[in-house]
Amino acid sequence: MTREPTAGVSPVRAPDSGSSAGIVDQPALTALVHLASERPRIVAFTGAGISTDSGIPDYRGPNGVWKRQTPLTVQAFANDPATRRGYWARRRLGYSVMADAVPNSGHRALATLEGVGRLRTIITQNIDGLHQKAGNDPGRVIELHGTTHSIVCVDCGARTTGAEIQRWLEANDGIPACAVCGGTLRPATILFGEPLSPPVWAAAIAAVEAADLLLIVGSSLVVNPAASLPLLAKQRGAAVAIINRESTPLDELADVVFHGNAGPALGAFVTTLTETIPDQESGAG
Ligand code: NAD
Ligand code: ZN
Repeated sequence: MTREPTAGVSPVRAPDSGSSAGIVDQPALTALVHLASERPRIVAFTGAGISTDSGIPDYRGPNGVWKRQTPLTVQAFANDPATRRGYWARRRLGYSVMADAVPNSGHRALATLEGVGRLRTIITQNIDGLHQKAGNDPGRVIELHGTTHSIVCVDCGARTTGAEIQRWLEANDGIPACAVCGGTLRPATILFGEPLSPPVWAAAIAAVEAADLLLIVGSSLVVNPAASLPLLAKQRGAAVAIINRESTPLDELADVVFHGNAGPALGAFVTTLTETIPDQESGAG
């Protein structure tokens, strides 16, 4: 499984459900609550769209990073010193956005959902750590693309924190090196063209196979292999719900599509669901 910039699914336009930023689409909300009330084993699958309200731009939305910047490939990072220099220079300027970001109402709603025993796992494409900051159990968060808050040495495997490297970048010019062996450092994230970690991918598949509702939030669903998880959920008989501002290529496959802002949508969903049905501690088991 390699992380690819484009997926092999052909786009299908779903009818727009008519909601706009901040306004909750009531029919979709009712349908989603109904779906969830019958399915105790919810697994969330989140993308960059859940974090835009925390000030972290997505990649492919209207203001996405890719409008300004090409993706960082593993080949360029490994082979081209200029690419590595560029990466560390951008990180010096940009890391504080990630480090200082605080969870928004969407992250908090998922933490609440876990707290009342209705959310088993979060599979996330995000590298920002905001689910853990919101209070979700780190043991229940599967970071498909790794984390930007950890830096790893490609030569000896030593790890250091994003904060420590940031202090170095702010005090020095150039490229940081491993404090243990002097080797090459890289972020603990999956770069484009690079395979996902097999155990992490296996954990994501196991989580989806154990779900009876896959709740997808804020993903354009065009990055493989992550875009294949909703298909797997359907094959295994689970329901699929999508909350996203824009249509996705997988809207047609979903049982409920909610076009709107993730924060208000998730907040309304979790509030309504928890008011409707009692805590189900065993559901998170
Ligand atoms: P994407 O950028 O491809 O798509 C994000 C989707 O979310 C878009 O369809 C957009 O319309 C929608 N969206 C944006 N803001 C929203 C909001 N407030 N409410 C609802 N929908 C909203 O994101 P992706 O599918 O996750 O793929 C991007 C990849 O880039 C990820 O795999 C991740 O590794 C990386 N990335 C991570 C972060 C992060 O950690 N926060 C940010 C940018 C990119
Ligand atoms: Zn090292």
